[in-house]
Amino acid sequence: MIRSPNLPDTGKANIESIHHYSLENSKISLDVLRLDKIHTIISGNKWFKLKYYLEECVTFQKKGIITLGGAYSNHLIAVAYACNLIGLSSIGIIRGEQPTTLSPTLIDIQKFGMQVEFAGREMFYNSNFVYQLKQKYSDYFFVDEGGRGVPGIRGAEEILQLAGKTEYTHIICAVGTGTMITGIINAATERQWVIGIPVLKLGQKNTVSDYILANTKSQNFVLEYDFHFGGYAKSSKELLHFINLFYFEQNIPLDFVYTGKLFFAVMKLAGSGYFPKASRILVVHSGGLQGNRSLPAGKLAFCY
Ligand SMILES: *Cc1c(COP(=O)(O)O)cnc(C)c1O
Repeated sequence: MIRSPNLPDTGKANIESIHHYSLENSKISLDVLRLDKIHTIISGNKWFKLKYYLEECVTFQKKGIITLGGAYSNHLIAVAYACNLIGLSSIGIIRGEQPTTLSPTLIDIQKFGMQVEFAGREMFYNSNFVYQLKQKYSDYFFVDEGGRGVPGIRGAEEILQLAGKTEYTHIICAVGTGTMITGIINAATERQWVIGIPVLKLGQKNTVSDYILANTKSQNFVLEYDFHFGGYAKSSKELLHFINLFYFEQNIPLDFVYTGKLFFAVMKLAGSGYFPKASRILVVHSGGLQGNRSLPAGKLAFCY
């Protein structure tokens, strides 16, 4: 097992109840699992998805991890920081051409010792590109974008261990690659219903739901596709207003890429009679607040 005193402490993930007038009539209880609290940099679900990759990297005696992501990637910053802590090297392949000013995330990951290379979108999405990277950096352990893959799912299966003793009827989380929700579906009981809110614009038939179905035996889940706000990392006045209001009312900070869309969906669905009376709902706050650094200053009412 990988150990370092500065790695995330999953014991810090507490459960908080949300009180809102829209829940009272239907006697719905809404709890939030605050994975955002386990670490300031290796935030939320990224730690769970990463831990078994780190173990494999050490087991196979590789120099470090090579992985990919965008200029504000929560995954890249988690990899850079974790590798640095445990004495591994790291290489980050960044989607897009090198910008004239680096994002705060790119500055941070280099500070944490990650070697950074830029790949234009055409190259980044070319099917041969990953193969070439693996050949070129064969002494590194390759981790797919966002920690997508079986070790990532295995780690995410441990998230519900933090959910306490309450018998939740519904568990809701944001969906990017689908890795976290797949782990949650695998760990949920037969009586629990898992709901995913994709933050990408997806059709009813898509690779994310195919990936989930291929990696879980249970069918106790549904994806609700109407809350992407135009696509990945797209935002709107309505979304940012919701995030600010939610912070004032609940004192819970959200990011606009994942958890903002998730909680917007939860409150919308709860207010529209989507959940049966007396449902006990657990919402997974998967962290990722540093992604808010891509917003212009002053858009949000809290610091991140
Ligand atoms: C990466 C991320 C997700 C998406 O997780 P997947 O396993 O890719 O579906 C959700 N929330 C936050 C905050 C994230 O950083």
